[in-house]
Amino acid sequence: MVTPSHTAEYPDAQPALPPRSRGVIALLHENCTSCMLCARECPDWCIYIESHKEEVPATEPGGRARQRNMLDRFAIDFSLCMYCGICIEVCPFDALFWSPEFEYAEFDIRDLTHESDRLGGWLGSVPPPPLPDSRVPEAKEVEVARGAAAKALEAYRISQTEPEGLALGAAAGGDAAGGDAANGGDAGSGDGANGDDAADGAEPPGGPAPEQRPEQQG
Ligand code: SF4
Ligand code: SF4
Repeated sequence: MVTPSHTAEYPDAQPALPPRSRGVIALLHENCTSCMLCARECPDWCIYIESHKEEVPATEPGGRARQRNMLDRFAIDFSLCMYCGICIEVCPFDALFWSPEFEYAEFDIRDLTHESDRLGGWLGSVPPPPLPDSRVPEAKEVEVARGAAAKALEAYRISQTEPEGLALGAAAGGDAAGGDAANGGDAGSGDGANGDDAADGAEPPGGPAPEQRPEQQG
């Protein structure tokens, strides 16, 4: 008598549902490999999957062609579904998600069988995944993955700086091979003390050109 009524005024007032309410199941078609795990585990047998196999040609010469399942039909009959969530739990490829949407009542029970396009349409209302719990210690695998990522990043940085180093080396070698750019006279003058000249063609490795020898002797 004295406690207020808890009657919900739906549909005039929308209920304040938790974001992870089990309203309807959404399908991410691209992730589904037609493995049939969800259909096999569903206690109500209300998931219908049809698929066919297609041959995917080898990606490299000498490789083997592969068989791949192509999804033709994925449907859930929500007139049978008991919202247990087993299908979502067992899916190894993250193709099924809970959406809090619940307003899909129908006059005809057959319309409660949602085909893949309708199941895909529920994806827009799927809440983002929860943030990691800071109180839970980080898994060992995460640390290993971080180490591998850091190594890969370091290798990438080195590969990016290498051409620059080579370029610097080439520039330094250029002085030796092509002669001092600022001191162009060295190249033409055949200064033996300057290693530039050999590569410059001014003085061959065997010594001065025959036509220069008489002058030097003279
Ligand atoms: S929620 Fe449960 S009953 Fe509904 S489709 Fe998934 S496995 Fe089947
Ligand atoms: S378990 Fe996942 S990947 Fe396998 S058929 Fe079901 S939805 Fe598709």
